[in-house]
Amino acid sequence: MSDQTFLGWPFFDDGHRAYAAAVEQWAASGLPLLAESEEGDLDAVYRYVGTLVRALGDAGLLRACVPAAYGGSRDEVDVRSLCLARETLARASGLADFAFAMQGLGSAPVSLFGTEAQKQSVLPAVASGARIAAFALSEPDAGSDVAAIATTAVRDGGDWRLTGIKTWISNGGLADFYVVFARTSDREEKPSKGLSAFIVDADARGLDASERIVVSAPHPLGTLRLSDCRVRADRLLGAPGDGFRIAMGTLDLFRSTVGAAALGFARRAMDEAIARAQSRRMFGRALAEFQLTQAKLGEMSMAIDASALLVYRAAWAKDTLRGRVTREASMAKLFATESAQQVIDAAVQMFGGLGVVHGVTVERLYREIRSLRIYEGASEVLKLIIGDKALEAASNDPVRRG
Ligand SMILES: Cc1cc2nc3c(=O)[nH]c(=O)nc-3n(C[C@H](O)[C@H](O)[C@H](O)COP(=O)(O)OP(=O)(O)OC[C@H]3O[C@@H](n4cnc5c(N)ncnc54)[C@H](O)[C@@H]3O)c2cc1C
Repeated sequence: MSDQTFLGWPFFDDGHRAYAAAVEQWAASGLPLLAESEEGDLDAVYRYVGTLVRALGDAGLLRACVPAAYGGSRDEVDVRSLCLARETLARASGLADFAFAMQGLGSAPVSLFGTEAQKQSVLPAVASGARIAAFALSEPDAGSDVAAIATTAVRDGGDWRLTGIKTWISNGGLADFYVVFARTSDREEKPSKGLSAFIVDADARGLDASERIVVSAPHPLGTLRLSDCRVRADRLLGAPGDGFRIAMGTLDLFRSTVGAAALGFARRAMDEAIARAQSRRMFGRALAEFQLTQAKLGEMSMAIDASALLVYRAAWAKDTLRGRVTREASMAKLFATESAQQVIDAAVQMFGGLGVVHGVTVERLYREIRSLRIYEGASEVLKLIIGDKALEAASNDPVRRG
């Protein structure tokens, strides 16, 4: 088992430790498995993620994704619990982490900004695994630049009609509902002002979610086509124009958890690298006996601990200080995903030729980590946010101002 000493850090309470142990236990003995022969079969991957969501729900682990009043485990969604689950699941299975994460990401806009009726209609089913959630923000010409969203929502009597294309949507074609972001007023001086968010059921007339996207680490991912898709007035989240705030509030909660998933991948790569270095013999001794190997393992180990510190600092700050943690969450995601990429690459290198054989764990991790540096804020975007926050802090510093 990977290093667990971090659970003794002051960021956690006993409830966190018990939850981490429950997830660990489930990953070891309750996690349904996908047959190796089905890994390249996208239909099987879709079915498998559905199975994972139900199994996570049955085990009570999805309760961390929603507030207690709607079947959750804590009064408010607790970022440390989300991070602990994602780290532990990612160490065992990228798809189990994905299944868990999307229930949280897809329902967070409702937990944070929904009406009582909206919460009741969605959240208990998310927590039990009965309904699968998705978050539909990106478009062909609006990825990093969220304010460029072109999907429109126009009023139709008391309801809304949505038209446009959403792409890169995780759980696209599998989800039971999507939180869709659309433009409800023209791009004014501040383009982000005119966005709104809607809960759209998968069976809504005018929604086509049949187009799939095949990526290097396959998971349910697709394009949504909305053509005059009618959405009831009571499915609007917040007020018209709140969409950008809802998207950013959700990402503020979830960015650290992407760092946690990266941390789980990195820990698994570290475990694999150590086992390989100890067992692989060359030049009359074990690979682990060479100082170059020891130095590399030292660097990997330090990168993992530094990532864990940033991830759990950001999660703790969100849970306990309650304000926005844009800077801390950006640092956590940026550092943990970039370092995990390096740790996994080093593990692949230690495996030699075996490291690039399709299906070997480090090769799978190498494919799985890559997209985490792109979604929920590409690394370049996060650097700009962190730099911007540093400049803002400096201009607010009374000593420097004086
Ligand atoms: C596997 C996967 C799952 C996803 N799941 C979802 C989902 O569930 N829901 C959803 O809404 N979206 C999802 N996305 C979409 C994701 O959020 C976008 O891919 C991401 O925002 C980047 O947008 P883009 O792909 O259009 O790249 P672009 O916006 O075209 O950016 C391309 C690159 O430009 C660089 N860049 C960006 N800004 C700057 C800058 N200011 N200066 C310099 N360089 C810059 C970055 O390196 C970036 O990777 C997913 C993507 C992937 C790959």
